[in-house]
Amino acid sequence: MTNIPIPAPVAKVLDVLHRAGYEAYIVGGCVRDCLMGRVPGDYDVTSSALPEECMAAFAGWRIVETGLKHGTVTVVSKQEDGTYYNVEITTFRIDGAYLDNRHPESVTFTRSLAEDVARRDFTVNAMAYSDPTGVIDLYDGRGDLERRIIRCVGDAEKRFREDGLRILRALRFSSVLDFTPAEDDGGAGRLSTHEAVHALRQLLTGISRERIHVELTKLLCGVGASRILRAYPDVIGTVLPMLTEERVYAAADALERLPAGGMPDVRYAALFAGCTEEQMREGIRSLKMSRAEERAIRGLWEHRCMIPAETDAPRYTLRKMAGEYGYDFCRRQAMLVCAVGGKDEDTLDRMLAAADALEAENPCCSLKELAVNGGDLQKYGITGQGIGKTLAALLDLVLRDEMPNEKEALCAKIQEV
Ligand code: ATP
Ligand code: MG
Repeated sequence: MTNIPIPAPVAKVLDVLHRAGYEAYIVGGCVRDCLMGRVPGDYDVTSSALPEECMAAFAGWRIVETGLKHGTVTVVSKQEDGTYYNVEITTFRIDGAYLDNRHPESVTFTRSLAEDVARRDFTVNAMAYSDPTGVIDLYDGRGDLERRIIRCVGDAEKRFREDGLRILRALRFSSVLDFTPAEDDGGAGRLSTHEAVHALRQLLTGISRERIHVELTKLLCGVGASRILRAYPDVIGTVLPMLTEERVYAAADALERLPAGGMPDVRYAALFAGCTEEQMREGIRSLKMSRAEERAIRGLWEHRCMIPAETDAPRYTLRKMAGEYGYDFCRRQAMLVCAVGGKDEDTLDRMLAAADALEAENPCCSLKELAVNGGDLQKYGITGQGIGKTLAALLDLVLRDEMPNEKEALCAKIQEV
């Protein structure tokens, strides 16, 4: 029997439920990740205990009623080092019809683990585990882990019609885990998972954009992103209509050249690299991103073709960029430029080295660091809009190394500019 190590606070929660006479397991992504030797992001617990029974079992614990309607209770467990650990417990449930393509219209609680795992999207996400029972794997999820395949639990078409987001989730898990959607589960009038992804992609137009955004971001950050983009440009184009097949292929090439891991802003900037500015803005807006995300992607996108070393004043250009967006941005911009422009590693290394060297030198790059401020200018009789304009002109001289960043010298220059 395979043993999965469970973090102490989660094991404690399972133990409390078991002692109260209920079934309880860790389930879904955490079981999949542990079996793959990956570190799970979080541990979800599923239990036969109804929400009220669950709250009774944890009397005296801190409880957050996260989503009682959907059967989710969060218990807060205090760890030995004094920090808190949240464990989400969800009652075994059967989902009703997904009328709005988003939330199940109703959920029905059940005492059967089999019914609970049957509602889950993919075989590799439908495994449960507890120490007394070992891995409970009713859909050969382990076989699919071995074969590196994303296969729907049950009929792919039916499952995608229940919740269209699963189409994008199939590609997201394929990208992140470096798997492939199953091609052998069709036949006899049934679509395979792979066929259903293509055939039913239009269902994604009815899905909330926030949910699409979450899955698309994970897809783009996965190790298999470029492979999945090349294989499913039609699905990407359904989610973001400005992305023609040609643009998706170009984005796939760029993503392949990016260093692995994280940096969603760089990846989105690469995804939109071939679009017009208008289309890029529309794409970002339609995904309901946060202001910070939007600003980062737009900044990178605008500079996606610029190599400071190839401008007339490379040091000036780099300082301006560092002042406006920071050094970390300069480095991410360098990765983007090289990925989009197909530059060799030497070019990237030179760009990164230039950003590192500038950061180490730490010269004045922005108004914040300028040796004079608005107050100083007022003493010289400059007021209103003149202050901003004069400061900008002085900063420009400093950025160009035409003036030292020293108060006395800059003040002497005020009347001139
Ligand atoms: P991650 O490591 O990215 O969190 P995960 O497998 O935990 O991966 P979640 O989106 O957190 O994925 O979902 C948790 C579990 O809930 C999944 O493993 C799956 O069993 C189930 N699930 C989530 N969304 C759906 C869905 N749309 N349809 C069916 N089952 C789903
Ligand atoms: Mg999860």
